[in-house]
Amino acid sequence: MGELANCPRCNALFVKSVKSICDACYKKEEDAYDLVYKFISKKKNRTSSIDEVVEATGVEKDLVLKFVKEKRLRAGDFPNLTYDCEKCGAPIQEGKICSSCASGIQNDLEREKNIEEVQQKTSRDRSHTYYSVGNFKGKS
Ligand SMILES: [Zn+2]
Ligand SMILES: [Zn+2]
Repeated sequence: MGELANCPRCNALFVKSVKSICDACYKKEEDAYDLVYKFISKKKNRTSSIDEVVEATGVEKDLVLKFVKEKRLRAGDFPNLTYDCEKCGAPIQEGKICSSCASGIQNDLEREKNIEEVQQKTSRDRSHTYYSVGNFKGKS
């Protein structure tokens, strides 16, 4: 037997199964997908942007984004279904940030790690000095 849960979209109680949302919402999403797909698969609409799709179909932008992120609307077929990289705003079609930001973050993380290691080392060395200076100020 399935486990009862609240639908994250409409808050209705439903039996959780393979789907993470209730049947009504699932059906709504499928209808929305059909609408979006019918629109975008027309030859003249293939190069529409997400905003144009939202305007033409009336489907929520979040939902269209979800279809793109789930790769139900494939980048190869619809080159302009892009959304903004969370860091630099470059158009992307998967993940949250673009590949150049992703490699930048990797570098940043490594740099931060190095800085932290150096800081830990120096603060250990200096901790005695800091302590006595603080003490001195406290007394005066
Ligand atoms: Zn629901
Ligand atoms: Zn970026």
